[in-house]
Amino acid sequence: MSGLFTAAFLRQIGWQADVYERSSIELVGRGAGITTHPELLAALEASGAGTKNLGVTVDKRITLDRNGNVIAEKHLPQILTSWDRLQRLLRETIEPAHYHLGHEFERVEQRNSGVRVHFSSGRVEDADILVGGDGVRSSVRAQIMPEVQPIYAGYYIWRGTANEADLPPRALQDVFPYFSFFLPPQQEVICYPISGFDNDTRPGHRRFNFIWYRVADAKLLAEMCVDENGHQHEFSVPPPLIRKDLIAALRAEAEEILPPALNDCLGAIKQPFLTPIYDFIAPRIASGRVALVGDAASNPRPHMGFGVSKAGCDAEALAQALRDHDDIDRGLAEYNRTRQPIGANIVMHSRKLGTHMGVNLQTDEDRAMHKLLQDHRAMMDWIAVPDFLDAYR
Ligand SMILES: Cc1cc2nc3c(=O)[nH]c(=O)nc-3n(C[C@H](O)[C@H](O)[C@H](O)COP(=O)(O)OP(=O)(O)OC[C@H]3O[C@@H](n4cnc5c(N)ncnc54)[C@H](O)[C@@H]3O)c2cc1C
Repeated sequence: MSGLFTAAFLRQIGWQADVYERSSIELVGRGAGITTHPELLAALEASGAGTKNLGVTVDKRITLDRNGNVIAEKHLPQILTSWDRLQRLLRETIEPAHYHLGHEFERVEQRNSGVRVHFSSGRVEDADILVGGDGVRSSVRAQIMPEVQPIYAGYYIWRGTANEADLPPRALQDVFPYFSFFLPPQQEVICYPISGFDNDTRPGHRRFNFIWYRVADAKLLAEMCVDENGHQHEFSVPPPLIRKDLIAALRAEAEEILPPALNDCLGAIKQPFLTPIYDFIAPRIASGRVALVGDAASNPRPHMGFGVSKAGCDAEALAQALRDHDDIDRGLAEYNRTRQPIGANIVMHSRKLGTHMGVNLQTDEDRAMHKLLQDHRAMMDWIAVPDFLDAYR
């Protein structure tokens, strides 16, 4: 997403930009729900991708108790979209000739006035700059800043999407229309509707995005990352290989812990998958003629649902800095100067919201925030709300 945003914004200032994606097939059906923010809508419009049929609008947030009673409500209209929809909109901004599937970045040589980029296929490209939009485990960042590594937050997510058509009436009525919370100690369940396959927003054809935050220390996480064939994975397990005993334990715990309507939703998800939560702040997001954008530059925990918004804003800021300086090096320095602190603030804010989980509370401020967030009304006021960055301006 950040790569496509960057190419779109660079073309607008008259640059030629090519995107190299390691996947050899089009990226479809990946990921799940994405909360939108005013910054994302603005970046989509400004990039030329637009916001047509972006997703499903909810009017309010609700919090449920264990029995499924609504214990609090908050009026907050929000558009919920999907990774697929955003990728499709952005993908359409780029000419097929400038989008290259099956190209895995291998290494970059910095030269006096540009870069030489090597791909694992053997292809070599010379350019004025290289932009690493290659995600939290960025190979580009690994080369220019190997010391910067993602940090495990001490908790992970079970997540997945249920088809609206597979949900029983109780779930359709009690939770499907809302941005729903269920908040037992050291856990968060957050759910909302998104469009269905191929961006179908017709009633009956939509999907329901389900996220369940759980605590696990590094040892337990490592055990969970042993797959169905006994193979140990380092960071997460491809969904089809997640062990059946883990899924069975998840479903049994859901019976015990979740309100009935949310248990119904999980029951309708055929293949729940787990995502460990990491974050990091890179001290620099430009080095020589290499810049980093999106998750490669800094990776917030997902509590604000702001990752794609940040990707769009990083890309726009990079293009603006290059537009405003005839000298490319100065433009990149300006990008680093203006945007790195914003990325750091976003990550710090996500850590603040993560204190709800009660893991690694190190300072009095952490403990005070943790205490505040034990109130479900505070969670509805803080989690994935628009305009949270205003406090840092
Ligand atoms: C549980 C969860 C919930 C989230 N919810 C939200 C939300 O509600 N709203 C929101 O805005 N964000 C959300 N996010 C964050 C969002 O998904 C990311 O911030 C966003 O996808 C970042 O985009 P990116 O393009 O920087 O990185 P990525 O999406 O990781 O894309 C990186 C791309 O680079 C490619 N690549 C990697 N290595 C190489 C290489 N060596 N050579 C070539 N290509 C390579 C990959 O194949 C991939 O296509 C969530 C994240 C998680 C984990």
